[in-house]
Amino acid sequence: MLVYPRAIMRPMQIGDISLDWLYEADFGLDGGAMFGVVPRVVWSKRYPADSENFIPLSLRPLLVRRPGTVMLIDAGYGNKLTEKQRVQYRLSRDCDPRRDLARFGLAPEDVTHLVFTHLHPDHAGGATTLEADGSIRPTFPRARVVVQRLELEAMTTPHLRTKHAYQEENWRPVADAGLAHVVDGTAEIAEGIEVHLTGGHTQGHQILKMSSGGQTVLHMGDLLPTHAHINPLWVMAYDDFPMQSIEQKARWLPRAQAEGWWLSFYHDRKLLAARFDAAGKVCDALDAPLLASTAV
Ligand SMILES: [Zn+2]
Repeated sequence: MLVYPRAIMRPMQIGDISLDWLYEADFGLDGGAMFGVVPRVVWSKRYPADSENFIPLSLRPLLVRRPGTVMLIDAGYGNKLTEKQRVQYRLSRDCDPRRDLARFGLAPEDVTHLVFTHLHPDHAGGATTLEADGSIRPTFPRARVVVQRLELEAMTTPHLRTKHAYQEENWRPVADAGLAHVVDGTAEIAEGIEVHLTGGHTQGHQILKMSSGGQTVLHMGDLLPTHAHINPLWVMAYDDFPMQSIEQKARWLPRAQAEGWWLSFYHDRKLLAARFDAAGKVCDALDAPLLASTAV
């Protein structure tokens, strides 16, 4: 078996909270869509694209542990994609959050909380699993599944623009099993771990602030998909409410920069987390492990 050593190390500890980044797969998206109105000649210096204008991205659910809590922030695509979709998204391998969690010695039943920044399939697909008998069941049968009320409304009453971005099969089995925990705005979901409604990327997008031992990690979800998006004005063309994305980034990021908070990433191919100075330069970074092969 190929060695993937750094992926199973515990890369960050703040007080009594430990953070690990799961690795689901690499994938690619159009760089222009990822950087919105920013010209390619500008963004490509910070995040290079290939000849077809695709940029390399990853899918990295965040595993957050503190005594009594095993939390996942987002769960990747999961195993329900068709072969056509896997090719379309340029996925580097099959997706299964149970496999990725097992690398940390954890079973699906061990997960106490599953928090969704939002319900797009690259984040919420892993909420449910296609079993061998053809049924679709919650992947983490004991987890309290935390989502914003506005995000659920966006899924159940979709707009013409957003209706293809949500799939009932990612949520319905979770709700039917009584696992849903719907929050409205700011809430403390475990000691030292808060969710905050931001909107922006989607109507009910939320972020997480985790603090312990005098240190803080802010997980901005798809408001900060990579380190190259640190400028509040650099928002994705995928965002349904770009003005809100800009407002929320302008509200949170200067505070994170001034107070030395870590910012963690879900989609960055190179960095798991970073600290930035006031000018937006990375001053401290946690590198993603280099993969020897996509077959790990
Ligand atoms: Zn995403």
